[in-house]
Amino acid sequence: MPGLNLPFAPDTRRVRRDGLPPVREFRAEICVVGAGIAGTSAAIEAARLGRKTVVVDGLPALGGQAVNGIIGMFCGLFGNGTHGPQFTHGIADDILRDLGAEDALHYRRAHTTVVMYDDVALARWVERTIVKEGVIPLVGAILRNVNLDGRRIASLDFATRYGDVRIVADGFIDASGDAALTWQAGLACQEQADGVIYGSQMMVIEGVDEAQAPTWDEMGLRIRERGEHYGLIRRDGFAAAFPGRGIAVVNMNHVETPLDPFGATAKGLEGREQADRTMQFLKGEFPAAYGNTRVRALGLPGVRQTRWIVGKHHLTADEVRAGTKFPDSIARTAWPLEQHHNAEGYVWEPFSEDHVHYVPFASLTPVDADNIVAAGRCIDADSAALSSVRVMGPCIAMGAAAAHALDLAGTGSVHDIDMAALRRRVAANVDG
Ligand SMILES: Cc1cc2nc3c(=O)[nH]c(=O)nc-3n(C[C@H](O)[C@H](O)[C@H](O)COP(=O)(O)OP(=O)(O)OC[C@H]3O[C@@H](n4cnc5c(N)ncnc54)[C@H](O)[C@@H]3O)c2cc1C
Repeated sequence: MPGLNLPFAPDTRRVRRDGLPPVREFRAEICVVGAGIAGTSAAIEAARLGRKTVVVDGLPALGGQAVNGIIGMFCGLFGNGTHGPQFTHGIADDILRDLGAEDALHYRRAHTTVVMYDDVALARWVERTIVKEGVIPLVGAILRNVNLDGRRIASLDFATRYGDVRIVADGFIDASGDAALTWQAGLACQEQADGVIYGSQMMVIEGVDEAQAPTWDEMGLRIRERGEHYGLIRRDGFAAAFPGRGIAVVNMNHVETPLDPFGATAKGLEGREQADRTMQFLKGEFPAAYGNTRVRALGLPGVRQTRWIVGKHHLTADEVRAGTKFPDSIARTAWPLEQHHNAEGYVWEPFSEDHVHYVPFASLTPVDADNIVAAGRCIDADSAALSSVRVMGPCIAMGAAAAHALDLAGTGSVHDIDMAALRRRVAANVDG
């Protein structure tokens, strides 16, 4: 076959590492660590405020668990009831508009409205929007060191496969999910003192015959009766079908997610085994609906809770149950307490139709630092309260609030910002 008439390949050159590897230094105004849904919201909001913003993630892709863990549905975005009001706006509005226009969403309306999404469409939305808004992304970069100057973080050091990077900024957002930034800075954090908070190995399956699919109640009953036979640890869960596509998001196992690196790796592999057993269960127990299914995608290990910050306010389950509205509220939701501290199942504590609970800004701020704000699943709360406010709706609102707080602080302290000004800026996510 005749080839194209292209010029010769360019010459090669010999290279050798010479002395210490150079550190690439980058200057931004706001640096967001973690590109999950909270960090994505924070970075886009900061860029829209005109701030030079960099978002860094240890994974080689953007989107955190929302994309790479294939969580599959936005929860806590709407109030309770079949047509509760939308509680969070900002990038939530953009995602609902843009993915809705691509037919990449499905609204499930029951005790509340949850919004299923196509994980590939969300991944591309995050990537496109980060670029369009002028956020500078850095992926595959693991936080190694925090350089402090008194109560301020001066810069962060990251290791990447192509060499080390230092980011200097005025303000930093810890959206790492594991409080990685706060922890590396030597600031107080908290972990579960006893017991385990389980994660899950999520997956998307294809080839589902939706017309034959059992209800979630029927599924739960069968797992309780027959799960042991298939070696399933968790005795509840669901396969949520995306209507008209023959696919479903499956959330049906419990996997430990320890902070020990070797332990986390081993447990992640156990999660894959649980996914295999889940497939055997679905095919064996519901052959009409799932007999011809295949796994289309396995998510990265889904981590609910590991380590989180100690902030100025420790949000409690009692405040959540009471619907306490704080003077510095920056996010709201009505999502139930959803605690995954039992291997066999989760504890579900739903609220009435008119219930709303709030996240105060003080739960996002480590006490002993001036230019760091947390957002997402690593803010200060007790385990029960966190089990509700870590769903993606309030994570989006927390990310936006963190960006506004650092914008208001400038080169000053987030502890001294005009709280009324912050409340005005995030009013759409708190009031009305
Ligand atoms: C199995 C499971 C099912 C869930 N189901 C739902 C659901 O149906 N609906 C819902 O709304 N919520 C659900 N949740 C909760 C919700 O998905 C998460 O709490 C939320 O996505 C957390 O977002 P985040 O941005 O705080 O953190 P993450 O999405 O975890 O993002 C944190 C990012 O920080 C990066 N990072 C961490 N450490 C470092 C480091 N040292 N250096 C560089 N980068 C780092 C990580 O790579 C990651 O990308 C579920 C959670 C799990 C685990």
